[in-house]
Amino acid sequence: EKEELKVLVNQETITPDGHKVDVAGNIGGFKDVEGVLKNGGEGVGLFRTEFLYMDSDHFPTEDEQFEAYKQVLGGMNGKRVVVRTLDIGGDKKLSYYEFPQEMNPFLGYRAIRLCLKEQDVFRTQLRALCRASVYGKLAIMFPMIATVKEFREAKSIYEEVKADLIKEGVQVADDIEVGMMVEIPAAAVLADQFAKYADFFSIGTNDLIQYSMAADRMSEYVSYLYQPMNPSILRLVANTIKGAHKHGRWVGMCGAMAGDPVSAPILLGLGLDEFSMSATQILKARKIINSTSFEKAQKLAAECLEKDTMDEVEATVKSYLG
Ligand code: PEP
Ligand code: MG
Repeated sequence: EKEELKVLVNQETITPDGHKVDVAGNIGGFKDVEGVLKNGGEGVGLFRTEFLYMDSDHFPTEDEQFEAYKQVLGGMNGKRVVVRTLDIGGDKKLSYYEFPQEMNPFLGYRAIRLCLKEQDVFRTQLRALCRASVYGKLAIMFPMIATVKEFREAKSIYEEVKADLIKEGVQVADDIEVGMMVEIPAAAVLADQFAKYADFFSIGTNDLIQYSMAADRMSEYVSYLYQPMNPSILRLVANTIKGAHKHGRWVGMCGAMAGDPVSAPILLGLGLDEFSMSATQILKARKIINSTSFEKAQKLAAECLEKDTMDEVEATVKSYLG
């Protein structure tokens, strides 16, 4: 099978009836770039920058971050790299920063919520990203956005940072896309409004499922509720894509669901534009998509949205796959 997949490395991801999508890789740093390229990834759909912070004993300086982003952007040879700004908090803590004590850290002070308060931290990262933007094709995305107001605030801080740099005579790419993760149900429900402001969405199903089902993604006791194929989740995904496409925006998915072969035909049929996953899953995903009729996938997706349970959705996909 490995040899069979290898021939797909340099091919595009396109259905037999001509519907083109991207399959990209998730990375935690430069060390993962080679794997994405070797497996024919069409870009990086998620660069989780929190490792830069967690592997350090201080907030990484602007120059330290600049070097890291430059390396990744350059390494990807002009393919798009979606960099997620700091997503810290929840279970991800820093030795050099004191988080408040909260009853529910996953529902608390984290990610963009922290960045909008600790603006020096946020601005430092955005400066480094803007400076690195000339070395490749950069897209920036904000994690854990719940309200349109948060997105607009984050975006306006980015605009300020960028304008400051230009005033300082620093070169900044003029085609940086600025988007957001859709991983809080409120954002998925209001996607059409968010899409007026965000250049793109990337659906974070790991958190979207956790928050939609009110089931801790780490807890084995409630893992039976962790249901990517629950029709409620599919409807949130469908609504996100519909809202984005209404405004001409593209939608990716970077949660684990994006790399699941069983979900692939449904996500394709719902109109997902980019699938981002671990490098080792890329070729399998391409193989599935390149042998799935888009028209059939659309019918399958529409059928799945009308089901009552996850089991019924799974049965529908299996009978479709024959
Ligand atoms: C997600 O929530 O689906 C996601 C991709 O982000 P993380 O797993 O880093 O929370
Ligand atoms: Mg997340």
